[in-house]
Amino acid sequence: MAKYIFVTGGVVSSLGKGIAAASIGCLMESRGLRVTLQKFDPYLNVDPGTMSPFQHGEVFVTDDGAETDLDLGHYERFTHAKLTQSNNLTSGRIYEQIISRERRGDYLGKTVQVIPHVTNEIKAGVRKVSEEVDIVIVEIGGTVGDIESLPFLEAIRQIRHEKGKHNCIFVHVTLVPWIAAAQELKTKPTQHSVKELRAIGIQPDILLCRSERPLPKDMKDKIALFCDVDPDAVITASDVRSVYEVPRVFAAEKVDEIIIRHLDLEKQAGPRDLTRWNAMLERLHHPDDKVSIGLVGKYVEYEDSYKSLKEALVHGALAHNLEVEISWIEAEGVENGDAESQLEGYDGILVPGGFGKRGIEGMIRAIQFAREQRVPYFGICLGMQTMVVEYARNVCGLERANSSEFDQGTPHRVIYKLRELKGVDELGGTMRLGAWDCVLAENSFARQAYGAPEISERHRHRYEFNREYEPVLTGAGLRITGQTPDGTYVEICEIGDHPWFLGCQFHPEFKSKPLEPHPLFRAFIAASYEHRKRRLAGPLLRSLQYASGD
Ligand code: GLN
Repeated sequence: MAKYIFVTGGVVSSLGKGIAAASIGCLMESRGLRVTLQKFDPYLNVDPGTMSPFQHGEVFVTDDGAETDLDLGHYERFTHAKLTQSNNLTSGRIYEQIISRERRGDYLGKTVQVIPHVTNEIKAGVRKVSEEVDIVIVEIGGTVGDIESLPFLEAIRQIRHEKGKHNCIFVHVTLVPWIAAAQELKTKPTQHSVKELRAIGIQPDILLCRSERPLPKDMKDKIALFCDVDPDAVITASDVRSVYEVPRVFAAEKVDEIIIRHLDLEKQAGPRDLTRWNAMLERLHHPDDKVSIGLVGKYVEYEDSYKSLKEALVHGALAHNLEVEISWIEAEGVENGDAESQLEGYDGILVPGGFGKRGIEGMIRAIQFAREQRVPYFGICLGMQTMVVEYARNVCGLERANSSEFDQGTPHRVIYKLRELKGVDELGGTMRLGAWDCVLAENSFARQAYGAPEISERHRHRYEFNREYEPVLTGAGLRITGQTPDGTYVEICEIGDHPWFLGCQFHPEFKSKPLEPHPLFRAFIAASYEHRKRRLAGPLLRSLQYASGD
């Protein structure tokens, strides 16, 4: 039978509850335990698929095609858990299920209520992910005190009541702010948020106190006394350089020991083994050199909108003992300004996924620059589509070639909506989502990177390569190096005569982990680093040639 760790948050949002949950998962795995993680989001959207990345951050996609909260990305990067639609439940999804059941007449004669119907549905959701694991870590989104998250908190309170104290543990992430004027850390916000939790029947067992400074012993004792928590279970979750440090911070504070003791898992748990994780951290903190990547995208103002991508670049660099410097370049700025001066000086250029017309022409200019200047280029999803458009226009001479997403009246729909022809068109639910197999061509950048003939990658898009244009594009040198086994969808395009120039229709960033950097990111960073060496050696070589009179 699985045991449960429930993670709640108090005082303010953005305390890194997702990272905390993922880090606990990492620590539990380091003790030889099998874990899974689940996120509850209290909002009424059925999933975050239709929410703006500005508001909500990235939409993370699982193998089974679920569009989920970005915290699931952290869970997968920190652990080996295989996550699905069932690992992310929103209030919207819960209500949708209940209301459709009510319409079907399943509750005939009864009044449908938050308690027990909504809470039962939530509990059923937790049960669903509890198979074949030792521990289920459930993170409740939002902040304690929000009206919206009450049914979730009530459900986890009931689970603790039903399963008993030694099968459930409550971890509360809270803030202990440093007040500069008083030169003091303050415990009151933590006391208040724990009070709020206790009022709904939840007594936290561990407090993860986010703080700029280490909590002195007397302060931990004070929090322990007022919040009725064991002093050892008041943990300083200090700010760290990298999120990947957090498992180590928690290990130093013996969070794993406390959880294992509380959940009576001493027999099942092995000794803590963080060898590989720590070796990764050493490399992360002591890079040999750096590499700079220019990212030409639309949602640059808000970093969370490309969370997995940023992490995948870090992992790719880590694979070569490098540090990556990511510069976010506003695509619209490239469109209107002098592209060369904005794009010069990067070792590699990347156009990530995105939706909508804004900035498209800037992306196309950036891709042309990368192609002509022989700068390594990596196009992801929209970045592959714009790569095809650029090639069609500037190499094949197909004027005004475009994706029908951006120009309905284009004379050359090199990217179009294949499923439009099949008559499905409604926002939400019509995208090509989740894992698809892809066969790789011999002698390609892709095949070289993966070292395998067949791969599987995750998708999230509506438009795709129009194979009617394949003869003219490939005739002019574009290569199709990845496609679905049945040949319907083009998955990867490349050009040959270039250090590295590849676009993929899928999102490789969703499968990259610090301990398993994704092959395409590894290869792109390697090519970019080579370009860096050439770029930096260039002026030196020129001055040597000048000195020798060549
Ligand atoms: N907007 C494009 C499409 O729907 C690309 C999507 C993406 O980059 N994720 O196909």
